[in-house]
Amino acid sequence: METTPITVVLASRNRKKTGEMADLLQPLGIQLKSVGDFPDVPEVIEDGLTFGENAAKKASQTAQHVGCWTIGEDSGLMVDALDGRPGIYSARYSGPDATDEKNNLLLQKELAGFPPERRGAGYVCSVALADPHGTIRVQAEDRCRGRIIDEPRGANGFGYDPYFLILEYHRTFGELSGAVKQRLSHRARAFSRFIPEMMRILRAQ
Ligand code: IMP
Repeated sequence: METTPITVVLASRNRKKTGEMADLLQPLGIQLKSVGDFPDVPEVIEDGLTFGENAAKKASQTAQHVGCWTIGEDSGLMVDALDGRPGIYSARYSGPDATDEKNNLLLQKELAGFPPERRGAGYVCSVALADPHGTIRVQAEDRCRGRIIDEPRGANGFGYDPYFLILEYHRTFGELSGAVKQRLSHRARAFSRFIPEMMRILRAQ
């Protein structure tokens, strides 16, 4: 029996994150589109107080503009010694002109003098599915623990990855391959909770 592919839009303009999410969703037989493929979809203002609120807002507002099932994702780094900062501000930690380099410089400045055992941190990923009317139908969140080191290692990944050490592997996400990050990361873990529920809902359409 032929099944019509279901189009799902990813409400993210971050190319690296979109690539990781596309790899996680690729085996599901759904037709994935980027919000960048749709003209004139306004930027979503990330003014939620939690990752979950921001993920839901991205999914819901984008769905209302494009009229398709839409996935919104919000993620970031929470450092124990900094009371969870940069948290939901991870992308713009160093200010309005933030870059990964400036964000990492500020992170190192804030953690200067902290010994390795006080540099524990977690990446968090929250993901939401909105229906074509913008109603949130599924939400999931998970995290991945690591430690912030003081010298970058490796050029894979993005953001804080060269400083994010996975203790069990003695490697940063900058050093580990994309395939390994796709098994261990906060995004992989959140999606493994999210995908079964999303597919149950989409297949019922
Ligand atoms: P968002 O696009 O508003 O969700 O911001 C996400 C920010 O969190 C990114 O710009 C990075 O600074 C950080 N971040 C989230 N996930 C990752 C990751 O997998 N590796 C490195 N940095 C990440």
